[in-house]
Formats: sequence, C-alpha cells, structure tokens
Amino acid sequence: MLLPQLRLALDAGRPARALVPLGDVVISHGHMDHVLGLPAWASQRQLNGIPGGRVYVPRSIAEGVAALLATCARLEGGRPYDVEVIPVAPGEVRPLRRGFEVRFFSTSHWVETLGCCVEWVRRRLRPELAGLAPDELRRRQAAGETVTEDVRTPLVAYLADTGPEVFAAEPWLAEVEVLVVECTFLRPSELERARKFGHMHLDDLVERAPALRNRHLVLTHLSRRHRLAPGSRLIRAALAPQLAAQLHLLNVEWE
Ligand SMILES: [Zn+2]
Ligand SMILES: [Zn+2]
Repeated sequence: MLLPQLRLALDAGRPARALVPLGDVVISHGHMDHVLGLPAWASQRQLNGIPGGRVYVPRSIAEGVAALLATCARLEGGRPYDVEVIPVAPGEVRPLRRGFEVRFFSTSHWVETLGCCVEWVRRRLRPELAGLAPDELRRRQAAGETVTEDVRTPLVAYLADTGPEVFAAEPWLAEVEVLVVECTFLRPSELERARKFGHMHLDDLVERAPALRNRHLVLTHLSRRHRLAPGSRLIRAALAPQLAAQLHLLNVEWE
C-alpha cells in the first residue's frame, strides 16, 4: 500500500512505478508477496538518480534484506544501491516527513511480522499553562520548564499479515482513523488454515466489526483461491451490515 503524501510505502510486494519516488519503505516480514518489489524500487531509484532510500524491517530479516539488495546491485554490475536497511523492533518510533511518525508493533503471523501506525504529531502548549503571558512562558522556558507537549493522533494502522490476536494485543486499533487489515480467507472450511498460518478470516472480522470505531476499513491480501468479484461480494455482504466504517477492498486480481 502506497501513501505518496507521506512518501511512504507499506510493503512492496510487486514492482510499481508509483513506488519509485517514495523514500521510506516498511517491509513487514520476509514473505515474497511483501518484498518482491523492493529490488525494482532500489534499482529504479538509482537509475533515476534519486538518493537516500530507507527500508524499515524486522530485526530478524535485516541481514537478508541487505544481502538481497547487495546481490541485485551486483547482478546489475553497478554501484551498491543508496538504500539504508534499518532494523526496527516493536515499540520503536521513526520520523517521517515533518509532523508525522511511524510506530511499529508485532502482529500475529507465523514468522516475525511488524505492523505499523502512522501518527500525526503536533506540539501544543501544555493545557495548564493556557492564559499565561508570553513573557511568563519565556521565563519558565528559560528556567528549564517544559511548556509544550506532543499530541499524537493515530491516522493509519497497517496490520500486514496477521491473525486476529493482534486486536486483543493492540486495543487502540479499534479507534484509528484508517485501519488496513488483511482478509485472506473467506470460506468456513478455511478457518483452520487461517489459524495455522496466522491470517485473518472473514469470520474474524465479522465477529469484531461491531466494536470497530474506525472511519475507514481497508481490506487487502485476499487469497489466490478466491476470484476477485465473487470474493468481494461475499466480503461486502457479510461485513458491511456490521460495520460503522466505510469499507474499501484493495485487492487486485492476480495476473
Ligand atoms: Zn506472510
Ligand atoms: Zn502475505
């Protein structure tokens, strides 16, 4: 998923033209449907003379991702790509463009996987100091008092690949403005498979839908077992009546 306003990509499953200008890429985990676009991104940036890409990855795959990019650059016969691979752990926060930060958390997939949340951070005067004269505020500041505080608004949470356990571990997900969540499996017979491999089943979302207070719910990652049109109809029919949020289906047909 691409957020061009923040120059941020949430995973890079396949090469895409729109990915190239984005300087920050979060790779949630090492599965190819989340990684394969990364070498093309790095290569195209080098070709176009765009410096300084950053890739945020779980610690367990940092070495592998760096080696993948180094190998691809070597294959091309050129210089190493100007890309920094940055290992991150759950709980860490990294800056994006001014006023925005990305915070990482664990999801419940069958390999280590990081979800992330884009937060809008604005600084304001501490409420108890409201009404003080500017001179007084400057005096207090000069004396070492902290007169401002950061207000954080979670805007977009991306759950990458995950089972439903993440909702209990991160209850704030029910409040974030835009919740991007996978919905891999749809049929009752696929519930066991969803549990085994740490994926979300449509029934998991239907069960939790009444508690979700998000403005937008974006579903991704539909299994190849499902055709797009009937799958979408099934999802809408089951979920839309339970849901206050606006429902968006971001799946694309496999080529
Ligand atoms: Zn996966
Ligand atoms: Zn996946």
